[in-house]
Amino acid sequence: MPEVRYRFAPSPTGHLHVGGARTALFNWLLARKEGGKFILRIEDTDVARSTQESVDAILQGITWLGLDWDEGPFYQSKRFELYQEFAYKLFDSGKAYRCYCTTEEIEAKREQAMKEGRKPKYDGTCRNLPAENADKPYVIRFRAPQEGVTAFRDLIKGDITFNNDELDDLIILRSDGTPTYNFVVVIDDATMGITTVIRGDDHVNNTPRQILLYEALGYPVPKFAHVPMILGSDKARLSKRHGATSVMAYRDMGFLPEAMVNYLVRLGWSYGDEEIFSIQDLIEKFSIENVGRSAGVFNPDKLLWLNAHYIKAGDPQRLADLLIPFLKERGVDPSKGPSLPAVVRTIQDRAKTLLEMADGAVFFYTSDIAYDEEAVAKQMTPTAAPLLTALGEKLEAVAEFSHDGIETAFKEFCAAEGIKMGQIGPAVRIALSGCTVTPSIYEVVEVLGRDEVRTRIRRSVEFLTK
Ligand code: GLU
Repeated sequence: MPEVRYRFAPSPTGHLHVGGARTALFNWLLARKEGGKFILRIEDTDVARSTQESVDAILQGITWLGLDWDEGPFYQSKRFELYQEFAYKLFDSGKAYRCYCTTEEIEAKREQAMKEGRKPKYDGTCRNLPAENADKPYVIRFRAPQEGVTAFRDLIKGDITFNNDELDDLIILRSDGTPTYNFVVVIDDATMGITTVIRGDDHVNNTPRQILLYEALGYPVPKFAHVPMILGSDKARLSKRHGATSVMAYRDMGFLPEAMVNYLVRLGWSYGDEEIFSIQDLIEKFSIENVGRSAGVFNPDKLLWLNAHYIKAGDPQRLADLLIPFLKERGVDPSKGPSLPAVVRTIQDRAKTLLEMADGAVFFYTSDIAYDEEAVAKQMTPTAAPLLTALGEKLEAVAEFSHDGIETAFKEFCAAEGIKMGQIGPAVRIALSGCTVTPSIYEVVEVLGRDEVRTRIRRSVEFLTK
């Protein structure tokens, strides 16, 4: 079997959009599943709109998602000579011709056609000129067939047919010698040996033109799969209006790459009614045939749900590493205080994002916590101070400062005082964390450690008796 080769070919004119990320994922998954290659190509022929900043942002985005590439990144801007060579190859074989029509002439003809209700199309003035005049400025046009149809079987959309008389004699080289978009894509995909092109369905209309070019150049035509767009909740194409569209914005909001990958692949692809897919599952199970024909609607709640799932199931050490920048943003230095993975363990069950997790972790690292006034008013009854003092002493005397040892101490304390846990729990929570919503109290006590618990309980008693 010949090697299968997939590619992702972003235009570096902005960040990595979730739609682009999904296209990249589909290609990468199939390359990995089929033991093929995944090639990265930067489509920066539009020099005015392409920036290094965007290239960096795109590479950062796909790297964050965990996608690695086997070849590239190739830059179209560095391959102009190759494109010119191919353009002249077509010219030499008569499959392309010099066109001397000026922009003004073309524009006038276009206006005339519109006026007469005809589709504007190059009229072939220079198609069969008896003599060439290489001194005059010219573009190189592809001599496209005028009759018949160009058809292909899209792996997602099924059979697609275009009438050739609708296709123009495409300009492949401009008068300044720069190549045009559809031409370079074909030269690249052909010379890079791409076997399947998976891309956004905004490129469907380019495909017949590209197929004609492959045929003219004598290269095999790859398979094509055009992936439907991602829509917002109002069924319009997903845009900034709907919220973040950049993959990296999701990282900054505290999403895990595995949640993003799971969400994006599952958006438009299904496998029974399963929802949770690890990368390994996806590599095994993904197939382009199971990608739906209709556009998927981006659902932030579902992404959040998946993220919560992966946080809950995540390795505490890894989550701790991912959490550090979020804590630093909050002025917290997690190297000073309880072990971060231990803190993570206490909060990972409930946090939906790393951002929430960071918010929930801050109190572990600040003795100087601010008490939630409302909670204090409600839960810190006049009897709380002596109870807290007594509890502090009890905890001080716990032989083994472990979860079980602490739980036993609390139970013994409540029994001795003749109270229920509910009568002291909220006050302890406030004393230790500033508010009443925290993870398991025994875990918090354990993770904070004996000294810190002592300090915080004393501080709360001082606060209450002031
Ligand atoms: N550069 C194109 C884009 O970013 C992709 C073209 C292709 O995949 O053929 O939309």
